[in-house]
Amino acid sequence: MCGIFAYAGDNDCRERLINGLKVLEYRGYDSAGLVAMDKNGKVFLEKAVGRVSALANEVDSRKEDSWTYNTGIAHTRWATHGWVTNENTHPHISSNDRFYIVHNGIIENYKELKSGLEKDHNFYSQTDTEVVAKLIESLYDDNLKTTMEQVAKKLVGAYSLAVIDTQNPWTIVWIKLWSPLIVGSAEDGIYISSDVNALASLAQSYTILEDHEMVVIEDKKYSIYMAGEQIERASETIDEAQKIDELGNFTSYTEKEIFDIPAVLKNAWSGRINFDEKTIQNETLDALWDLDVERICIISSGSSYYAWDMGCYFFRKFSGISSQTIISSEFLADTFIPDSKTLYIFLSQSGETADVRESMKIVKAKWCMTFGIVNVVGSTIARMADMWLYSHAGVEVGVASTKNVIAQVGVLLLMAMSLGSKRDMQISDVRDMISELSEIPDKISETLMQGPHIKKLAIKYSKYDHMFVLGRNYFYPVAGEASLKCKELSYIHCEAYSAGELKHGPLALVSPEFPTMVFNPMGKFYGKTISNVQEVAAREGLILWFISKNDTHKELYSDAIELPETSELLSVFTWLVSSYLFALYLAEALDRDVDKPRNLAKSVTVE
Ligand code: GLU
Repeated sequence: MCGIFAYAGDNDCRERLINGLKVLEYRGYDSAGLVAMDKNGKVFLEKAVGRVSALANEVDSRKEDSWTYNTGIAHTRWATHGWVTNENTHPHISSNDRFYIVHNGIIENYKELKSGLEKDHNFYSQTDTEVVAKLIESLYDDNLKTTMEQVAKKLVGAYSLAVIDTQNPWTIVWIKLWSPLIVGSAEDGIYISSDVNALASLAQSYTILEDHEMVVIEDKKYSIYMAGEQIERASETIDEAQKIDELGNFTSYTEKEIFDIPAVLKNAWSGRINFDEKTIQNETLDALWDLDVERICIISSGSSYYAWDMGCYFFRKFSGISSQTIISSEFLADTFIPDSKTLYIFLSQSGETADVRESMKIVKAKWCMTFGIVNVVGSTIARMADMWLYSHAGVEVGVASTKNVIAQVGVLLLMAMSLGSKRDMQISDVRDMISELSEIPDKISETLMQGPHIKKLAIKYSKYDHMFVLGRNYFYPVAGEASLKCKELSYIHCEAYSAGELKHGPLALVSPEFPTMVFNPMGKFYGKTISNVQEVAAREGLILWFISKNDTHKELYSDAIELPETSELLSVFTWLVSSYLFALYLAEALDRDVDKPRNLAKSVTVE
């Protein structure tokens, strides 16, 4: 969380910093700030509570200042310590007004550090970050690089932290532990960013920094240090896929990303499933299943947790392997019993999710097998895992994940089928599944055509404050993901239950003011779910049905979304996509900020 962007080069940095922050805004949008310096240390500082556009307006209002400020650091905040106020907005400043810093992460020992500094320094903010600004001043030894080495030794927590010195304004020093840091080289100077997407249209190449490394930018060149020694690191060329697409005719990135899903799913399977030969061809998976895997334990958070829960059903069904999902923060809280026959799979869209990353460290420390599924190439979790697959969903800008979740579900299905084909699954079943999979992207497109009908229903249901979402079997995690999306996007209180569980307590809440969404595909549990929902109808509860086109009881439903005929298991894709459209249109009906929901940020890099 938090986006950091920096520039040192030939030109004025202010517009560059603002443009960089705009791309990074998905990482936090409580407040934003920047500091820019000219070569003599003249300072331009601006902060604003709210979006990056508010900061841009403040900077614009000082247009008469046409000075060239060549070096600058900037920050868009997702508050962890202290309210959303101007005082708490980064950059933070040392007491002598000499050092300015921006920080992504949490300094866990900030209270102890602060109490040691309080006799010499007054603190103006509630942040953990300000403590580091004061610490730099108190440890300063006439050399910013060696000072920052000492500072890093005192910090406990996670940080990607940049400092700029008014008395040496051509230099930026940056230290990193757990939070991401990427350096880009461009013709007009050096850029630094929290993600590679913000560098994609500016730099020609980039380098991802490892933990405990330091970058020093001086005279438009950068050097990387580890434990005081300069090290060499190869850089990578910027790839077109790292650029953010134009919004086109869509009203939000979230809407665009939902409509991108058919192409995204094709991409996740491309080169991994041979649709002509009806085989799965993937060297990573072949090597993985050669290992002695008896159990699967999947560790993730948020939407990825529901994707993985679907994955567990797939693994059990296709390969009969025992599989369980654990929420990563709960994994961290629990006692870990290492098992050398368990494959531990870690799922994170950004590849930086702090709880998932910390869980992986625990598993790796016990030498257990680790596998990562991430979207962002080169991210921490991909680099830490013994083996990994990318979900290849492309850059996702909407904070509530949609296309990325579907890509994850697609990769999980692929993994489960690949293991199944090496175990109990009949070759003919694998071939049938692959034939049906080839039709799923088109069935999703058909689902998307239902947009206007789903919108009408969303407008009707947007007047309620609470909703249940019911599903069974594979559709239980689908219900969980649908309810999460409704909460995130519309702020309507939405709870997912297994359809059979409602009568064990939650039914007490049902009333004409408390509607229920039901996922009921034609399948093994179709009749049972209908009976459960009759119990809701008997209490005058309003019901929105998500059903298949070939549903046999259409006379029962006053409000229904009809989805293409598909086998029960594969209909998770179309059902999920329809629930995403429903959540999107609920949010639009309530005039929510769809791409940047209240209080949230993408890429959760703090525990
Ligand atoms: N802990 C810092 C603050 O609250 C940075 C937050 C972050 O990286 O999300 O200002």
